[in-house]
Formats: sequence, structure tokens, C-alpha cells
Amino acid sequence: MRAVVNASATACKICGADALLYGVVDFAKSCHDHTGTRLPLSGIPVYYRRCRQCRFVFSDQFASWSDDDFRQHVYLEHSSRPHDTVADLASFLAEEAVVVFSTLVQPEDFDTLGQDWWYVGPRNGHISIFSREALRLLFLRNGLQVVSL
Ligand SMILES: [Zn+2]
Repeated sequence: MRAVVNASATACKICGADALLYGVVDFAKSCHDHTGTRLPLSGIPVYYRRCRQCRFVFSDQFASWSDDDFRQHVYLEHSSRPHDTVADLASFLAEEAVVVFSTLVQPEDFDTLGQDWWYVGPRNGHISIFSREALRLLFLRNGLQVVSL
């Protein structure tokens, strides 16, 4: 049987360290599943990887998708290229600026929950699951500091 994704380690999208396969969910899994509203299974496996260093969890299966692909298959647009997204964001900022954004970070028990955490939902575009360290490194590369409120 032919593998859907390469099982070898790839470079983490945040820090470049090795990221190994971490888990797989059906593409139809969304953040609303935990409320009891589930879409029928799509039959499309979505593999996630986890960085050994910064613990960023991501899927690289969407890297080749065009904007039209995202519009067709994912209801909310979420970046599959986080460094490009933050660099774009930073390019609009004045020398002193504040960026307010919202995302959940991996909870304390993420090692136990893994792909079963309700926030892992490729159907609504949650293909980048941040640890606090991954967020810190992502913004630091662009000279920005992350403060959690
Ligand atoms: Zn990393």
C-alpha cells in the first residue's frame, strides 16, 4: 500500500527542527464536533506533524493549495505558511505597534489529547496548532513579542 504522506521527519514551519508525524484526522473533523454536530466522514486523511523542539503541530498537506482551493474546501482562511503570514502582518506595522489576535494554544494535557483535542479541525482551517513556544518563535523572527492576556 502506498503512503499518503512521507513518514520521514520534515522541517518545522516555525523553528526548522525535525517534525515527525503526530496523528491523523478525517478532513471533515471540525471544531464543532465536540458540540455534537459532526459532518459525514470525507475519506480524506489529514496528517499532522509535531515539532520536537517548539512543539508546533501542523499539516503540510495544504502547502500546495491555491487561494481558490482554500475558498472551495475550507470555510475560514487559515495560513499554511505562518512565517509568510506574520511577515506580511509585520510589513503593515509602524515602528511601535500592537497587534491583537486570538488563537488557542495547546493545553497542558495536549500530550494526552493529541489530535482528539476539539480545536484540531482541518475542516474549518485549523491546520496550525500552536504551542506557546511556537507562537513566541514565530513572532520573534519578525521582531515582535507575544503577550498573552
Ligand atoms: Zn519547531
